[in-house]
Order: sequence, then C-alpha cells, then structure tokens
Amino acid sequence: AFDVLTIGGGPAGAATSIYAARKGIRTGVAAERFGGQVLDTMAIENFISVQETEGPKLATALEEHVKQYDVDIMNLQRAVELVPATTPGGEHEVRFASGASLKSKTLVLATGARWREMNVPGEAEYRNKGVAYCPHCDGPLFKGKHVAVIGGGNSGVEAAIDLAGIVAHVTLFEFMDELRADAVLQKKLASLPNVDIIKGARTTEINGDGNRVNGLSYEERASGEIKQLALEGVFVQIGLVPNTEWLKESPVELSPRGEIITDAHGMTSVPGIFAAGDVTTVPYKQIVIAVGSGATAALGAFDYLIRQ
Ligand code: FAD
Repeated sequence: AFDVLTIGGGPAGAATSIYAARKGIRTGVAAERFGGQVLDTMAIENFISVQETEGPKLATALEEHVKQYDVDIMNLQRAVELVPATTPGGEHEVRFASGASLKSKTLVLATGARWREMNVPGEAEYRNKGVAYCPHCDGPLFKGKHVAVIGGGNSGVEAAIDLAGIVAHVTLFEFMDELRADAVLQKKLASLPNVDIIKGARTTEINGDGNRVNGLSYEERASGEIKQLALEGVFVQIGLVPNTEWLKESPVELSPRGEIITDAHGMTSVPGIFAAGDVTTVPYKQIVIAVGSGATAALGAFDYLIRQ
C-alpha cells in the first residue's frame, strides 16, 4: 500500500508525486494518459521560467522529473471507482478499469478536465491550427487577427472581452437569442468597439484551407439560412468538464458543476483524500496553477500522515 497515491498524471499529478516522494514516503501515481491536457497543446508560453515550449515536450519533462524519484508510475490505468476508508486513518482503495486495485493511506485526485467540444466538422481537424479553447494560453497567437468566440455564457463573454484587447476583431456567437453572461460583463462587452455579437446562431462547420482556419459557417436559427464568416481563429467557450464521473457515487463532495471541493490544504470533504488541479473548484485552469495546487495537496497529505 502507498502513503500517497495520486490519480492523474498531468501537471498537478506530476507535482504531487515529486513533492510526496521528496518526503521519503511510499508514493505512486496512476494515470490514464501521463501528461494530461498538456499533450494536446502546441505552444506554451506562460509556464513561468520556461519562455517557450511545446506540449509534448513539457509532458516528457514532467515525466522525466517524476522518474528522478522513487515513484511507482502506472500509466494507462483508468480509475473507475473510489472506495473510501471505513475507519479513521484507514486505507482508501481505487479500482481501475483493468481490474487492478490499489490502496493508500492518502489519495490525491488530479484527474483534470476537458474542454467541451462543439463536435462540428473542422473542429478536430483545425485544433491548434486556429481552433483554440484557452484565451489565456492562445490569445496572443491571434494578435491583429479576426477571431470568433463560441458561447455567450460568462466564460465566452470574458474571453471576448479579454481577446478584444489583443486581436483586431472579435465576433461572439450565441446559440440562444440572448447572452447568458452576467449583466456587468454584457455591459462591458457592449462598450467595446471591435466586438460584434451574433445571437440565435448555431455553428455548423469550421472552415479551413487544409492548413489553418479561414472561416466559420453557421445557421441563422430563425431563418434556417446558412451563412459564412471569414476569420482566422475560433475560441470554443462552451464549458470545461471536470473528469469526476468516476467519483459520482463516492462521498467526495463535488460542486454543482462536478468539480471537487477542497480546503486551503487541498483536502476534500473526506479526511485523507486530497485533490489538485483542473478537477477542483480552483477558479483558473492553468498549468502553473495546477502545479502549485499539486504541491499544496502533497504537502497537505504529508501533514495529514504525520498526524495519524
Ligand atoms: P490534466 O492535464 O487534465 O491531467 C489529468 C490527468 O488525469 C491525465 O493524466 C489524465 O489521463 C488523467 N485522468 C483523467 N481521468 C482519469 C481517470 N478516471 N483515471 C486515471 N487517470 C485519469 N495552460 C497553460 O497554463 N498554458 C497553456 O498554454 C495552455 N494551453 C492549453 C491548450 C490546450 C489545447 C488545452 C486543452 C489546455 C491548455 N492549458 C494551458 C490548460 C492546462 O493544460 C491545464 O490547466 C493543465 O493541464 C491542468 O493540469 P491537471 O494536472 O490538473 O489536469
């Protein structure tokens, strides 16, 4: 059995593993896909102290760093069930799709999140070639260009306001006839000269020239007419889904959006079970933040262990 077992091998899980192993305690990490979302990323320019890198390169660096320590790495393992300890200070168990099961005194849940996709033609093909999901990450790559933001909720409107300060022009698309964002955000958006809003529109396709995005097709829902708009980038902002489906039956408390609720030490509602990174209610989902929260959760777990 482990002292600290992390589920998830993204930036948060890598940080947790390193911080735990450095305490000289039995440390393991099990992940469906070591590297996490970073593997799907092209340029990364905001991981402080690394001026520029690429996703796969950073993923390899994370794994190499973990391998410097005595950590059991179990890749390609998908957790399907969490069985919490039945006695205070007892061992928690995690069951995997492979049929394997692991026990540990503490757990760190770091299963991350995924962007909700539109599932329209061209979206997957032009991902990282004009199709983007994270304005904090990729906004500066579209400097001086015309981009669309898909989604008129808070995240879509925030993204449009953010991007309007960087790109030449933003067109915000909303499926419904009204935006759903907070009034104060809508007011701010309306005040910007280089933003326009198309409501009642359903995106039907992302167009490109084979290499990069060059436009977007949408259905004007009232008339059923299909229209095209030429542009160079599309930011999809229709939600971030935490990977917590496997925890729904567990006693770990989740927010209404399915994110794991933690305290300042990274502990969940279940003693001895911690969480870190995008899977939690942490407000901003970034690599540097995931790494920091992984360190917090590992130190929180260590603190918990020395009190048992
Ligand atoms: P993740 O990276 O999501 O890792 C989750 C881990 O858990 C993975 O190993 C996954 O396989 C595993 N997992 C999931 N479910 C299970 C399960 N049931 N059982 C076992 N393992 C499981 N951030 C930046 O700071 N800068 C950027 O430039 C940037 N660009 C981005 C570009 C794209 C296209 C995307 C998608 C994200 C980008 N981000 C960027 C966000 C950043 O990647 C995330 O904030 C960060 O990866 C979160 O780390 P994490 O460890 O919490 O989760």
